[in-house]
Amino acid sequence: MKPDMIFNERYRIIKSLGEGGMANVYLATDLILDRPVAVKVLRVDLRDDQDTIRRFKREALATTELVHPNIVSVYDVGEVDGFQYMVMEYVAGYDLKTYITKQFPIPYQVVIDIMTQILSAVEVAHDHNIIHRDLKPQNILIDEEGNAKITDFGIAVALADHSLTQTNTLLGSVHYLSPEQARGSMATKRSDIYSLGIILYEMLTGKVPFEGETAVSIALKHFQSEVPSVREFDPNIPQSLENIVLQATSKVPQDRFQSAEEMSIALSKSLSQKNAEKWHPEVLVSGETKVLPVLDKNAAEVSNTTKEPEVTADKKKKMSRRKKWTIGVIMVALLMLIVGGVVVATSSPKEVKVPDLSGMTISEAKSSLADKNLKLGKVTRTNSETVSSGDIINSAPKKNETIREENKVDVIVSKGKSKITVENYVGSTYSDVKSTLEKDGFTVEKETQHSDSVTENEIMEQDISAGDKVVPSDTVITLTVSSGPEMFTLRDLSGYTIKSVQDYATEIGARLSISEAYSNSVEKGQVVKQSPTAGSNMSKGGSLSVTISKGKKETTDEFTRTVTVPFKSMVMESSSSSDKDKEDSSDESSNSSSSSSESKTDENVIEVYIEDKTHNIDTLYERKTITKDTDFKLSFIVDSGKSGKYKILRDDKVIAENGNVTKN
Ligand code: ADP
Ligand code: MG
Repeated sequence: MKPDMIFNERYRIIKSLGEGGMANVYLATDLILDRPVAVKVLRVDLRDDQDTIRRFKREALATTELVHPNIVSVYDVGEVDGFQYMVMEYVAGYDLKTYITKQFPIPYQVVIDIMTQILSAVEVAHDHNIIHRDLKPQNILIDEEGNAKITDFGIAVALADHSLTQTNTLLGSVHYLSPEQARGSMATKRSDIYSLGIILYEMLTGKVPFEGETAVSIALKHFQSEVPSVREFDPNIPQSLENIVLQATSKVPQDRFQSAEEMSIALSKSLSQKNAEKWHPEVLVSGETKVLPVLDKNAAEVSNTTKEPEVTADKKKKMSRRKKWTIGVIMVALLMLIVGGVVVATSSPKEVKVPDLSGMTISEAKSSLADKNLKLGKVTRTNSETVSSGDIINSAPKKNETIREENKVDVIVSKGKSKITVENYVGSTYSDVKSTLEKDGFTVEKETQHSDSVTENEIMEQDISAGDKVVPSDTVITLTVSSGPEMFTLRDLSGYTIKSVQDYATEIGARLSISEAYSNSVEKGQVVKQSPTAGSNMSKGGSLSVTISKGKKETTDEFTRTVTVPFKSMVMESSSSSDKDKEDSSDESSNSSSSSSESKTDENVIEVYIEDKTHNIDTLYERKTITKDTDFKLSFIVDSGKSGKYKILRDDKVIAENGNVTKN
């Protein structure tokens, strides 16, 4: 299919994502739901191959049944023009194979985290009695957030479906194939566990444990060679983590983890467990390893007789190759059975099966063991996410295993869910803390609160104290997060007095600054102007400035008037007045004149009164004695447009008066 092609009138193809053994996978847009999807379409050349069609349908069916965050979800399944197709959740990222290549070395904790996700998906599949049978890094996708998602249930098989088991055995990838699958036996849940063990090995060492020239030589190694030690490759790997690889990849399915859950529990403890001893298969302990050399011989024969066959090669070749190979293996298996039988028959006839102790308390287990004439051995306590505290998780030897009477059975008792120490998150960014906590299993709740001092999205408070130990899956932690300073829509303050502005500023917590200005329109004492303006958003604690009216600006006219006051000689006046009498009484007059000029000099006393804004007409403005015509400069200050007055007295007589002195 080409880009832009619209598939089934709904999915617009964007590009090819990969080509697998039976199908092509495309990235497409679901035009109805407007989301990216992965469309897996049966290859053209296989469209008439009934086996492949059946397998494809089975994959669709199996995957649809499985709903789990770590399993790629199927949205739609169908057939168009004879093509089987499946529409899946699109996983943006890359497969685990690429991830390992890119990221190696991967921190142990990350390895465990990815493995735990895969295990929880496999657990769900197994609960539905679906065996994946082709677990390999290429079929595990890692999305951008680091979530692992299993895909390609193409050769998965439902346990009940025997016919299919028979016809589809040797399909998986040989590097991850369990010995029993390689041998052609029926795949079980523990075959998936084996593949997971190999994947774990690869994540820890960056490579698969068994390489070979041919698929068959690799397959042979899976059932004859020990998986190499991961600690030899990296001595820092804890023994308990290596033990998980060893136990998962045990040649004998019964020795492996009973379930994905059990493997997951072991993983969760693997980094904290100290002084673990190296795991050894129980079969080896009982001495049955002697069989293995025989197996080696057979295997060598097989690999000699088959030259470079490929597991994925032509079917007929494969069948014949497999036949030869299986015959050898069956012989070995028979031998093992016989030897085992002999051992059982000669050693002790008093053998019992270990009862299922899981879920029991110690005392219940004791009595249950006593019923079978067995004893309680070592009790180990460990955390469990599923088994409640005090109940037995598991026993060693495991349930249904045969052991001699009087022997001891060790048990592992649950300490309940594992606890995590709460840290101090105050001051950290909410989103970061939330995702970390959620990864740990916490339920995170958010409360927001305004703050003037703490930046937005920063955590201010946590309701569980740092240092407290809690079970994350049972814990809701509430984080109080700053939503930054509180915002206000600023009121319109026009008409407010200083007092009411101050009250308002206190109410909103604003820093207030006040200035004054004249205003022709706003009454004195009220707000003329505010900044920020009314209606703008302001944060609590912000600053607010207002201008208060001083009322109208009072303007005045200032001007001067110069009034020339003429000098009036008193002597001249008297002589002139006595002019007519001059001749009559010249002596007298000269006498009087001389006497008068002696007693009073010839001068005028001038008094000036003015009225303006600062002077009153009844109060003396200026007094001066003049002896000649003199200019008087009068200064007036009046409200603009108004007039002033003046009055000038000479020797107590008003000689000039003006009641309407104006600027112009
Ligand atoms: P096959 O059964 O033919 O092996 P797969 O299901 O393994 O097909 O898909 C082939 C390749 O397509 C995968 O290895 C992967 O790279 C890509 N792929 C498959 N499913 C998705 C998906 N849901 N999202 C993104 N890529 C996918
Ligand atoms: Mg595939």
